Amino acid sequence: MKQMIAPPLHNTAATVPVVAASRAVPNLMSVVLPAFNEALNLQWLLPELCTQLQGMARRIELLVIDDGSSDDTALLVHGLIQQGLPVRLLRLSRNFGKEAALSAGLDAADGDVVVTMDSDGQHPIATLLEMLPAWRAGYDVVYAVQTGRYLSQTLMRRSYTQVFYWLMQWGSRFKLPADAGDFRLLDRRVVLALRSLPERARYMKGLFAWVGFKSKAIEFIPHDRTQGTSNYNFSHLLSLAIVGMTAFSKVPLRLVSVIGLVVSVASVMFGLWTVAEKSLLGIEVSGFATLAVSITFLAGVQLLCLGIIAEYLGRVFDEVKQRPLYLVQELTPPIAGAQAE
Ligand code: UDP
Ligand code: MG
Repeated sequence: MKQMIAPPLHNTAATVPVVAASRAVPNLMSVVLPAFNEALNLQWLLPELCTQLQGMARRIELLVIDDGSSDDTALLVHGLIQQGLPVRLLRLSRNFGKEAALSAGLDAADGDVVVTMDSDGQHPIATLLEMLPAWRAGYDVVYAVQTGRYLSQTLMRRSYTQVFYWLMQWGSRFKLPADAGDFRLLDRRVVLALRSLPERARYMKGLFAWVGFKSKAIEFIPHDRTQGTSNYNFSHLLSLAIVGMTAFSKVPLRLVSVIGLVVSVASVMFGLWTVAEKSLLGIEVSGFATLAVSITFLAGVQLLCLGIIAEYLGRVFDEVKQRPLYLVQELTPPIAGAQAE
């Protein structure tokens, strides 16, 4: 008799290991700190983290991702390692951007709890300390939400943000919390789930939301930057928004079809109207201005639609090249005994 062969498991579903039930104290807690020219901030933040995180886990590792800094970040971290602080350095070969730096950090972090936070000191350590009890209570993701964020933004910026989130959320099955950022605590199985995502378009906020898991929000008020300036101006944010949009939503593509349909229907109706005007009412159709306006209008609509399609094509182009997300120049060895058990 012919033997039945079970169909292969659907290979697009990554399996997530079941994690040990006990969540008393993590064996190892990794703090991933993407840093681009933040030596002046890291020199106080790293010792401060070491002090404040004492007792929160059996061991901690502070993993600094040097994202192609031109300052003394690497030197500083090596100095702290020499002093015996539980710090590790992952130096990328150049500046790849925060999203890639975060991915590099998540790939290298060994902890059974992994925290991602900025290196500029804007993310309060006190909020991090609040996250751990939530993890103990069974949450796999604890994310920090900025309170009063909108109050500090201009009306214009607020409207862009709202349109962005509205488009991102339209028809999507997962919820993208509007005021959450990259300040998060993740259980190891969430980190493994994130590692299993192969795409090059790393809109981390979207990926964090996409993987799901039991999540909890904690409110925080960011500190002011004491040193250096923000790396994100309007054009950077816009380009990140376009990456997010084209990586997570097909709504713009559908809008192209809708615009096409609306314009076609409108032009047919306009055509019928002019025929009726001429044949029934005998009105001579005066053409030039109408013609010029409709031609330029349609040319604009077509270019806009082409631009939207081109953005998606660009995404496909980036994905098919299969280039690595980042290249590592240096990774210091794990801190003695610091392996996830
Ligand atoms: N960052 C990075 N690579 C970059 C830009 C920024 O690793 O190309 C880091 C930066 O050092 C900081 C974090 O990302 O730790 C957030 O950046 P920033 O403070 O400039 O952004 P903002 O807080 O203004 O959103
Ligand atoms: Mg900042």
